[in-house]
Amino acid sequence: MTRASSKPTTTAIKTAVANNEAEVGNQVSESSSLDLTVELAAAVKAVRLASHLCDNVQWQLRNDEKVEKEDGSPVTVADYGAQVLVSWSLQRSLPGQTFNMVGEEDSADLRTEEGGPVLRRITDLVNHTLSECEKEATLLTPEDVLELVDAGRSDGGKTGRHWVLDPIDGTRGFITMRQYAVCLGMLVDGEIGLGVLGCPNLPQWSVSDVDCNEGGCDPYDERGIGCCFAAHVGRGTYAGPLFVADKDEMPGIKVHVNDLLSPEEVRFMESVEAKHSNHVLSAAVAMEIGLELPSLRIDSQAKYGVLSRGDSSIFMRYPPDSYREKIWDHVAGVMVLQEAGGVVSDAAGNKLDFSQGRHLPYLNGGLIAATPSMHRLIIAALAKIKEDKTIVYGEGPTYST
Ligand code: AMP
Ligand code: MG
Repeated sequence: MTRASSKPTTTAIKTAVANNEAEVGNQVSESSSLDLTVELAAAVKAVRLASHLCDNVQWQLRNDEKVEKEDGSPVTVADYGAQVLVSWSLQRSLPGQTFNMVGEEDSADLRTEEGGPVLRRITDLVNHTLSECEKEATLLTPEDVLELVDAGRSDGGKTGRHWVLDPIDGTRGFITMRQYAVCLGMLVDGEIGLGVLGCPNLPQWSVSDVDCNEGGCDPYDERGIGCCFAAHVGRGTYAGPLFVADKDEMPGIKVHVNDLLSPEEVRFMESVEAKHSNHVLSAAVAMEIGLELPSLRIDSQAKYGVLSRGDSSIFMRYPPDSYREKIWDHVAGVMVLQEAGGVVSDAAGNKLDFSQGRHLPYLNGGLIAATPSMHRLIIAALAKIKEDKTIVYGEGPTYST
């Protein structure tokens, strides 16, 4: 095993939370009478297991040359491997439940002749992780692996229960040793019921720029690296260390957004990758609402976790009109944030609609996740920028449906 399996819970998360106990208006969910306790526990366990696999591959990457995402690269193998383990673990924890999952990966490439060696590497990697973490488990065959990948073929929709998985969100972050996340949520009749984020490189203390830079995370840092966030609709968001000896352990520290800061004290977040989000527009919005601090650029849905525990107050995302957002890039993070008192909407202030299949409907130019007061300011600022045509954005989708 490459990483210490038990990390101390630092007081830093607790402090961040204790400073921020004020109640703010939560986004009310219609399905808050749901009881998904068992499913949430299964999701935490599955995310811990998949995160362990990803972390093993990161240790390999630290020692080898960096590898771009292409078939057969460690990144691709980790992506599939994480999906296989989540799918395996959920079905094992919840026997007898119908299993539907909207997963980012499918097995088509693995079933080709060229895919054979990749499939063998995924199988070895998954079995290696199982032999470390699930000693009683029967090892998987390549056929099992293909089936488990394909368990992620659900299209989601308005009815029924659908797990929603991004096995490695923030691939660029993963490759470059920045931030990345294993993200698992569940839709119940088109609404989010639960969300879990595994953030293997996220510090357990308040995050700063250095922790988000290439190689900035020191996996040996004794203050604790690796965070897990778990949220159940209507019951709040809890955080805790990701790498623990007992994979059944639930994160135990209730977190809440920090809505007590004035604009000069507020830090906003955005993607590291400029092609994922328009940095010029976010800077203009920041100026319009009086923010003075520069943005914190951080990969993946780790941003939602960081926001939920009050390290930052805003996450803005302005993808090009040609890009269609996938539900697995937001479901888990949105639940984590909303249950911590945050608000999420599209750039026009509309609630996000996860019931339309594998994609989100057009977001009117972007997605805003923030504390309630910052959210209000941003939506107003965007309306003004649009009206004044200071920056042209959100003209309508240019992707084909
Ligand atoms: P982030 O780490 O916040 O930059 O977001 C990572 C996610 O952005 C990945 O999971 C991709 O699915 C998604 N993505 C890929 N290409 C684009 C794009 N052109 N615009 C917006 N998001 C993208
Ligand atoms: Mg993603």
